[in-house]
Amino acid sequence: MRVERNGIAISPGIAVGKVVILDRSKTIVRRTGIDESRIGPEKQRFLSAVKRSKNELLSIKDKLDTEETGEHHQILSFNIMMLEDDLLSEKVLKHIESERVNAGWAINSVLTKKSEAFKDVEDIYMKERLADIYYLGERILRNLRGAHEDIPALEEDSILVTHDISALDVVQYAKHKAIGIATDIGALTSHSAIVAKSLGIPAVMGLEDITLRASPGDSIFIDGFTGTVILDPGEREYVEFKKRKSDYLDLEKKLLQYAKLPGRTKDGKEIKVNANIEITEELNLAMCYGAEGIGMYRTEFLFTNSVYFPDEEKQLENYEKVVSTLNSPEVTIRTLDIGGDKFPAGMEPSKRLNPALGLRGIRYSLDDVDTFSTQVRAILRSSKDKRIRILIPMVSKLSEIIDTKGIISAIARELGKEDSWEIGVMIETPSAAIIASDIAEEVDFLSIGTNDLIQYTLAVDRVNEHVSYLYTPFHPAILRLIKSVVEAGHEKGVPVSVCGEMASQLSCVPLLVGMGVDELSMNTHSIPKVKKLLNTITEKDSKRILKHSLGLKTEHEIRKYVRRAIVSKWGGSFPPEFVIEIKSSV
Ligand code: PEP
Ligand code: MG
Repeated sequence: MRVERNGIAISPGIAVGKVVILDRSKTIVRRTGIDESRIGPEKQRFLSAVKRSKNELLSIKDKLDTEETGEHHQILSFNIMMLEDDLLSEKVLKHIESERVNAGWAINSVLTKKSEAFKDVEDIYMKERLADIYYLGERILRNLRGAHEDIPALEEDSILVTHDISALDVVQYAKHKAIGIATDIGALTSHSAIVAKSLGIPAVMGLEDITLRASPGDSIFIDGFTGTVILDPGEREYVEFKKRKSDYLDLEKKLLQYAKLPGRTKDGKEIKVNANIEITEELNLAMCYGAEGIGMYRTEFLFTNSVYFPDEEKQLENYEKVVSTLNSPEVTIRTLDIGGDKFPAGMEPSKRLNPALGLRGIRYSLDDVDTFSTQVRAILRSSKDKRIRILIPMVSKLSEIIDTKGIISAIARELGKEDSWEIGVMIETPSAAIIASDIAEEVDFLSIGTNDLIQYTLAVDRVNEHVSYLYTPFHPAILRLIKSVVEAGHEKGVPVSVCGEMASQLSCVPLLVGMGVDELSMNTHSIPKVKKLLNTITEKDSKRILKHSLGLKTEHEIRKYVRRAIVSKWGGSFPPEFVIEIKSSV
């Protein structure tokens, strides 16, 4: 039956395909036959996953307060006991061998049998143990997946339909050929949205009940420009979507022509256009789309795709790729920004009420100096003959910068790399924005993270679709704050970049140019279109548009005025798609 839904247009593009339901509360396990030679390694893989699961549980148990010795402790003990149960392991090992199947399938089969034994029990306590078995199975399967295996093979035209999706899942499923994403919840600047955009996967989020409406194998159409999703479209609609998809691919080709343009306005103001990347696989895209440098490498994905943090050598290898692939002197590596809405595979998302206000970014790094020092060593060692730019996330006070510089300087001295680094601070908390002038005295550059700055200044959760109508860069408080940061940086002779999504919004770029921003850093796909826009507009007129906007009092007035001013001044010189995007900007 045809169903149409409208959600938040997250990542532009058109996708036509078949529904694959991804239910993260239950890992999809496929049966894969293995040959004789893989039996040994598969058993080893299972045993390692059990060991990792047990270590995780032991460390959770260790961290529990002594007062919390009640039920929680008992449950953990029951789980640990199950993992230590040789009989259980033996059964799984035997199953791998006798059935010649993958470890994931063997675990599922053995645990399913075990849970059946609990099914008819009346006792509530024992019934709850059934849930434990289920979660334990999920934990082991997740640890197996940490070794990058159990992602199911997808058909060519698979579109993921899921309640929610993590940024890591977007990366992993993109590698496994997913061509589109539709979710019940999510918002424009969530990390999964940013990654989908960077990887060029059309996505619509905030559809509320799409997982209840869709069934595996249904035909589905996703319009990442308008936020429309249609299940089981009619014959004629289907043909029309296919045509729109091919028009979209033509548009992509057209945009690529702009990749080679310089980052410069029509009247000659130079503005660097750099790429934000999340994984090294994006480096080629960045080059192809015309990035002049890497304005921000979000290193957390290197940390979040396995249970264990990568060691120094593994990080070094990764950062060296970033430093050497792009023929640019400018490479900015952001230190770990976990917490908030990004977590390593083995770390449960924070159950605290306000994770975005918790132990994230530099707060986490200063709390776990060993992990931070390892990362800094790897970054400095990767610098080769370049001066590497180290960017510090989630700073809210000056002493965090002083402490961080102390750690980096000591490591640089030890490595003989004193002259190989620059330090920059993300301005993404209101407190950092207000003291930007003092911060600028301590650093080599500032980078405004508008995604978080908007979230914290307007008190609007960036991942909550119910308040996304409040989330906007056009709020007068945001424009005034960004302008004051740019001025503070320039007064102290420090360049200022913008690396949040705002830098790629066509309707915001003239405002940022008017403020005198030196660099715009964005998802790779947006680079050609922003370059084309820059080459069409002038700094002089941008300043005028900014001045008038700053005199207005509400975000509605500002948005309306800015959209009109840009379209009436330059609309005739833009491709028509730009005009559509500007007119629909939020
Ligand atoms: C930001 O907050 O604007 C930013 C670029 O960082 P992230 O989106 O990774 O939080
Ligand atoms: Mg941020």
